[in-house]
Amino acid sequence: MAEGHSDSDSRSDAVVEALTEALGDDCVMTGDEVNGRAAGIWRSDTIQAKALLRPRTTEQVSRAVRICHRHDQSVVAHGGLTGLVESAVTTPDDIVLSLERMNAIEAINPVDRTAVVQSGVVLQALQEAVEELGMFYPIDLGARGSATIGGNISTNAGGNRVIRYGMTRDMVLGVEAVLADGTVLSSMNHMIKNNAGYDLKHLFIGSEGTLGIVTRAVLRLREKPVQQATMFVAVDAFDKMGDFLKYMDASTGGALSAFEVMWNNFYTLVTTQPAANQPPLPREYPYYVLVEVMGVEEETLEEALAAAFEQELIADAVVARSEAQRLQLWALRDDVEQCFRYAPVFTFDVSLRISFMEEYVTEVNRRLQAEYEEVRNFTLGHMGDGNLHFVVSVGEGGPDHRRRVEACVYEPLAAISGSISAEHGVGLEKKPWLHIARDEGEIGLMRVVKQALDPKGILNPGKVFDMERT
Ligand code: ZN
Repeated sequence: MAEGHSDSDSRSDAVVEALTEALGDDCVMTGDEVNGRAAGIWRSDTIQAKALLRPRTTEQVSRAVRICHRHDQSVVAHGGLTGLVESAVTTPDDIVLSLERMNAIEAINPVDRTAVVQSGVVLQALQEAVEELGMFYPIDLGARGSATIGGNISTNAGGNRVIRYGMTRDMVLGVEAVLADGTVLSSMNHMIKNNAGYDLKHLFIGSEGTLGIVTRAVLRLREKPVQQATMFVAVDAFDKMGDFLKYMDASTGGALSAFEVMWNNFYTLVTTQPAANQPPLPREYPYYVLVEVMGVEEETLEEALAAAFEQELIADAVVARSEAQRLQLWALRDDVEQCFRYAPVFTFDVSLRISFMEEYVTEVNRRLQAEYEEVRNFTLGHMGDGNLHFVVSVGEGGPDHRRRVEACVYEPLAAISGSISAEHGVGLEKKPWLHIARDEGEIGLMRVVKQALDPKGILNPGKVFDMERT
């Protein structure tokens, strides 16, 4: 060991040197260049890492990972950094591999109805490119302007139209991924149907960069909906929301594409200054729903709503009459940032059967109120997918309070076989609670898969679960 150098310093120099030699200076950032970058779009800290790589090609990603593998060097892939569960968090000992330069939409094929993209493509850029050709990429979420396709794949992103089109997993036809030893796995399937053995792409979807680094993908496109109607509805009892969901989907022939519920506390928050949005309906109802249907004539819709009134499923309603009004209604749903008026806040994205929802939310609030004197639990979600979001404020922040609040939210899920994550993933944040959503057999098999694909444990280490049983 050279004088003045610790073991880890000399190793660090060696791996960064090898990476610089292989990729060139302009692909390797170190020091202040790295530390000057935000660790996430909703985070106030900056990236900690030995180096940050910005490869331009799959070949460069492969060379970089091969070098990291040789040096037992951890490597963490970065997309748009819009994640919410500390899945892209790094330490000063990690190498970050950012896909930001691999942002080409390589091809859009209107006949096959596919798009071939590099994983650094921003979601909104793809949506717009596809729409120009009269087609549609259904995945949509609030962070569309920053989130990348690679990030969407690594977390199996959901968002607002899952009830109609499914999650990212349902859009991905094929992937190209770089494995832990640098091998490029090309599974760029363009077909909807392919039952020739294991469908390996699913290993890389939703596995948060722990099994491979996705570099390119083939995505399935849809036709642009001809009609898109959006309405905002007030409901006066919880059980009516489930009935109304079923009713709307049935009466429009399965055309329901969004069913976004808001509890009164969230609705009041996003329609009260300093929030910019005006309330489209009075604030007196316990629940509100933003409903979107695609491909249905206005008349059919009006009839369906009128009948819903008659059956007393809904208490009040407003239908968007213009694109501007439609966007105003969506702006209510998207203005989750208003919750930060009560910062620090803890955010959740639980998943459970619709039939258990009312009881579950009551139980979570009961527990929170037993723990804390002043509790705000802003509640909203993609009810059609069984996915609720809580943004909880208890007047305190920090890991101890987070843990206490998490217990209130996650523990009641065990009895009803719910999940700690519907769409955000596990990362570091939810790792201690994985056992609520997955049993020992499942977590054991996850370890076997991880061990087989990444025996040195260099890919996004420590995320989702620990390799050693604890
Ligand atoms: Zn969501």
